[in-house]
Amino acid sequence: MMANLLDFDLEGLAVFCEGMGEKRFRATQLFRWIHQRGMSNFDDMSDLAKSLREKLKVNAHVAPLPILSQQISKDGTIKWLFDVGAGDAVETVFIPEDDRGTLCVSSQAGCAVGCRFCSTGHQGFSRNLSTAEILAQLWFAEHFLRKHLHQTDRVISNVVMMGMGEPLQNYSALIPALKAMLDDHGYGLSRRRVTVSTSGVVPMMTRLSLDCPVALAVSLHAPTNELRDNLVPLNRKYPLDELLAECTLYLSKAPRDFITFEYCMLKGVNDQTEHAQALVQLIRRHAANGLRCKFNLIPFNPFKASGLLRSDDAAVEQFASILIQAGFVTTVRKTRGDDIDAACGQLAGDVKDRTGVAERIAQQRAVPIEWHAKAPQSGAH
Ligand code: SAH
Ligand code: SF4
Repeated sequence: MMANLLDFDLEGLAVFCEGMGEKRFRATQLFRWIHQRGMSNFDDMSDLAKSLREKLKVNAHVAPLPILSQQISKDGTIKWLFDVGAGDAVETVFIPEDDRGTLCVSSQAGCAVGCRFCSTGHQGFSRNLSTAEILAQLWFAEHFLRKHLHQTDRVISNVVMMGMGEPLQNYSALIPALKAMLDDHGYGLSRRRVTVSTSGVVPMMTRLSLDCPVALAVSLHAPTNELRDNLVPLNRKYPLDELLAECTLYLSKAPRDFITFEYCMLKGVNDQTEHAQALVQLIRRHAANGLRCKFNLIPFNPFKASGLLRSDDAAVEQFASILIQAGFVTTVRKTRGDDIDAACGQLAGDVKDRTGVAERIAQQRAVPIEWHAKAPQSGAH
């Protein structure tokens, strides 16, 4: 079977090269061609021995994900829909800002956690993405953008695992992908510029802190177990005090870091003054043990099946001011790419059910995608 080289971090690629009777340092050269230069055609990798290139052609390939659509928002946000087979699609969103470019990456097709306010959760779980499918999103986006923006330098400076799926429920595929993002021979992103967002898979948070301690965002959404049980069903397994104690432990190994708490603002559900006050009490209790955090309030991106509404701006402001007065750094997430429905966490927003996905993919296949031919096949340069 042909190995997809996007499936490996540098260590994995070294093992693969050794399996072909090659020296480990060949893996570094190969890794750089693939991830730093965006190449997929072995013949273009000029400093690899011809014999190695021939072996690679027989045993391996660099296989991108087929693209179903690309939408560009007026504000520069770009959303791609990738086909991952069997009627499943995942989305990736690029969000340009003045001082950085952020890529929002998916980790699963669907999600098993089933949060009430999340359209991915409403789709149900289909399957875990492989490391190659996770990395292919970054590989494609980075090299597509460099070409598109006529830039030779890195375009994507930050990655957030905030697309579809619960990354910590796909741990074994996630770790090599994160390692390739951080590797100086790969994307060379700093540990603090790669963020894993989790709904709170406590045991896997411990492992992440040991294996690859990147920045952590935790989807909180409620100040009490009663409410969080209802919004984020995983809370029944890992309730708030356990989750927050784990957050504190996560930070104990990274003294200058903090946890970002995401809080999706749902009208009349979790956005009242008493919720903000309860949240302050809860977090203060854990701050006393060393929990450092900031809050990111996310205006809910409504979709019909949820039966929920976005909080009014005034409620969001009031909520934020209570947190700020209590001394917590608090930001309200700007909605980006509204015209293409591309806000992180609202990916595949118009996907209502699994049949819908298959149908939509079939429709999109029928439409010729003009720029598809321009996707990097044998390298972005
Ligand atoms: N599964 C992970 C990461 C993906 S979701 C997690 O839950 O953290 C990324 C973020 O988007 C989470 O904070 C999630 O709660 C939020 N989100 C999901 N659906 C949303 C919606 N409809 N509107 C606003 N934010 C949403
Ligand atoms: Fe899954 Fe995150 Fe959506 Fe919850 S919010 S259903 S954990 S993707």
